[in-house]
Amino acid sequence: MRSISILGATGSIGASTLDLVRRQPGEWRVLALTAHSNAAELARLAREFRAEIAVIADEAKLAELRAALSGTNIQALGGAAGLVEAAAAGADLTVAAIVGCAGLAPTMAAIEQGKVVGLANKEALVSAGEVMTAAVEKYGATLLPVDSEHNAIFQCLAGNDPAHVRTITLTASGGPFRDWSLDQLTAATPAQAVKHPNWDMGAKISVDSATMFNKGLELIEAFHLFPVGLDRLRIIVHPQSVVHSMVEYRDGSTLAQLGPSDMRVPIASVLAWPQRMDTPLPPLDLAAIGELTFRAPDETRFPATRLARQAAEAGGAIPAVLNAANEVAVAGFLAGQIGFTRIAAMVEDVLSRYAPAAPSCLPDVHAVDAEARVHAREMMELA
Ligand code: NDP
Repeated sequence: MRSISILGATGSIGASTLDLVRRQPGEWRVLALTAHSNAAELARLAREFRAEIAVIADEAKLAELRAALSGTNIQALGGAAGLVEAAAAGADLTVAAIVGCAGLAPTMAAIEQGKVVGLANKEALVSAGEVMTAAVEKYGATLLPVDSEHNAIFQCLAGNDPAHVRTITLTASGGPFRDWSLDQLTAATPAQAVKHPNWDMGAKISVDSATMFNKGLELIEAFHLFPVGLDRLRIIVHPQSVVHSMVEYRDGSTLAQLGPSDMRVPIASVLAWPQRMDTPLPPLDLAAIGELTFRAPDETRFPATRLARQAAEAGGAIPAVLNAANEVAVAGFLAGQIGFTRIAAMVEDVLSRYAPAAPSCLPDVHAVDAEARVHAREMMELA
């Protein structure tokens, strides 16, 4: 039996992961489950999966969690320190599925155990970049990508020498607004932005998909996970979300991974790695899908991928600044404080005004992140 911890267990990725764990009775010992503030759901999951540790990041909810777990042996922890303690408990597999840079410290704590980390929390890798990849190397951890595109690339690279890669192409659905004009985008509402045509996801990543910042963050994520050079990384819009990404080799062969747009497919590949496991999904019916189409991204309406590429090129602290500014802008958009097109404009403004030194350790990354948030909030108040 292998042990598993899920950071962000109450979220969309957490639910998909636990759905698969539930289907493999006797295969997993659930070590730790974490949430931000949803104590009731966390307690319900911890009881169902007989978790050893349950952590609520919001300390104010710890009493509620403790009460909901009374009569069990489940250890209830709270706060950022609790998250790190749970992540360091040494599960064979830790699924990092907290949203945003808030997941960075626990993800790093899991990496430092030198075991397998399934990474969904792309913001953590975007912000920490070399600090995280150096830790993976130093502690001998295995970082498996959960993100469907990176998981697809990981599968397409298997058994091949990366030196033979000509290009890696990330596919993008284009989000709910892919065919909207700039005028329409200006008036886009949070309710419209979180309604993704193909994927059922948390609010933040849904907005990121609508702005294309999700693809921008993924470009930086791919830059770190697959070090073939930024100039070999491409993005293509593929509205059907059937081809999850592609690797082209020097001989002209392109390998692609296809599958239903359900995160349980890449999550299953991480849970079973290096084997395979069943999922409850119907087989891909290409005849019913009929058409797979592709088009170049439009960086005039969606500047996010351009900004992300520039941030990856600049390196150092710049991707962390981009991520922090985007997190603040998305929260502002969801709260009705700024319009949709202000998200990318605000990120660009923050990037043009603020260029801190490259971080060399985790506290440096947190400092860059915190300062960039201050700049972004100031800019939002001026808007
Ligand atoms: P959700 O918003 O659905 O879930 C987020 C999880 O993180 C919840 O468990 C939430 O707890 C917890 N959380 C939120 N804020 C904090 C915080 N400050 N401290 C600690 N825990 C926190 O997000 P998703 O599952 O959609 O996404 C998770 C990550 O996976 C993101 O980085 C996303 O980009 C990535 N990802 C998601 C995909 C998807 O299909 N959803 C696809 C590919 C990548 P609570 O419930 O209490 O708020």
